Amino acid sequence: MILSKHHCSTRKIGADHPLAEKVMYVPAMAEGSVEAICAALRWIGVEAVPTPRSDDRSLELGGKYTSGDECFPAKVTLGDFLRIVEQPGFAPRRTIFLMGTTDGPCRFGQYAACLKKVLRELGYADIQILSPKGEHGYSDFQDFDAAFVRTAWRALVSADIFRKLLLQTRPYETEVGAADRAFRHSVADLCETIQGSCSDVSCQLAAMQRSLARARVRFLSVPAKFDHVRPLIGILGEIFCRLNNFSNQELVRRLEAHGAECWMTDIAEWIAYTNMEEVRNLRLAGRSYSWSMMKSKLRARIQRSDEYALRLLFEKDFYGYEEPSIDEVLELARPYLPFGGAEGEMVANLGRGAYLATHGVDGLVDISPFTCMNGVVSEAIYPKLSRDHGGIPIRSFYFDGQQSDLDRDIEIYLELARSYWASKRYKRHYPLRFLKHGNAVSPAS
Ligand code: SF4
Repeated sequence: MILSKHHCSTRKIGADHPLAEKVMYVPAMAEGSVEAICAALRWIGVEAVPTPRSDDRSLELGGKYTSGDECFPAKVTLGDFLRIVEQPGFAPRRTIFLMGTTDGPCRFGQYAACLKKVLRELGYADIQILSPKGEHGYSDFQDFDAAFVRTAWRALVSADIFRKLLLQTRPYETEVGAADRAFRHSVADLCETIQGSCSDVSCQLAAMQRSLARARVRFLSVPAKFDHVRPLIGILGEIFCRLNNFSNQELVRRLEAHGAECWMTDIAEWIAYTNMEEVRNLRLAGRSYSWSMMKSKLRARIQRSDEYALRLLFEKDFYGYEEPSIDEVLELARPYLPFGGAEGEMVANLGRGAYLATHGVDGLVDISPFTCMNGVVSEAIYPKLSRDHGGIPIRSFYFDGQQSDLDRDIEIYLELARSYWASKRYKRHYPLRFLKHGNAVSPAS
């Protein structure tokens, strides 16, 4: 439905919709992104809230109802959902838990089934579980219309941009906490903007662009000194563990505290990858000329154009930190894990690693859950990736909720990154804020 500028209205599901009057809980995988997705859900009239921030109680509850064979993110998300169940006044019939799924090669496809089983055993079979599929680019949100999927995509891309701004700014701030504050305020502003945005796609995009522009000013106003350059570390790995600060024991903050700056693989890349998978699977099924194929390609195209429109404002800020297209990532993955011959996060992971290595990062860190299939396969290939890229140091960090001496390992790893810096083959391009200080090429010691 296209509404004129003078006739804007927000979208709302009808009172007779199965999701009306329900509360949807969305796993808090990545700070900023989860709030933005909830705002997109509220935009269509669904009461949506993030699951509570994971804590030791999440691990305790998750551990109680899993056998120990499950992946760590399964334990954490299960524990987070069970913390909602134990809240006073909890109403199972009004509740929906959002848990994505996939047919892919790893255990993610079992998370929703495991959650359902545990809830049934605990007497909560009434709780509805909504499971959009990775094979459909997570676009099959029941009968939500395409406008919601588009809004959710815009929300995710915007949150990715905020995370990038945060990681670029925080290591250099001179007022502790200022960059985190800019991030939180920007997320709150974005959520308010999405919720209040109108149903016309262009009108909504313009409102979100204005919110991003305000975020840019907030980050530029963070008191910071870009007068020393830190080793830049590319962050790869399994999507949940990489982005969930509780699960990875704040590894990025720790790297920053030890003198690094980080460049994190964003969420948008994974969605773009699932779009490519959907097209490939339709081809394999002989459905190259089908309605599904047309829909999938159109969705990917619209997403690319929205992403471009949202990132445009940051072109100069992200100079030297440009995000690759998914085609570029898959092409770079070809010598290691060719797309089609292998599938899953590890393919994009290897391609992204090669991209970052050729864009001047001083090291690569993989954050994965203990025994993660993607993490283990990637780790087996990293020595070749490193050899092919001038010996760039690559280190895998695995997490399972146990404490380890992370700081010692980080310190040793960053020493390697600093020595690689001096001799690396691929030079880094610096945005203006560094060049203003004129010493952007000397390693911080
Ligand atoms: S990506 Fe790794 S952690 Fe996630 S479900 Fe698959 S195997 Fe488990």
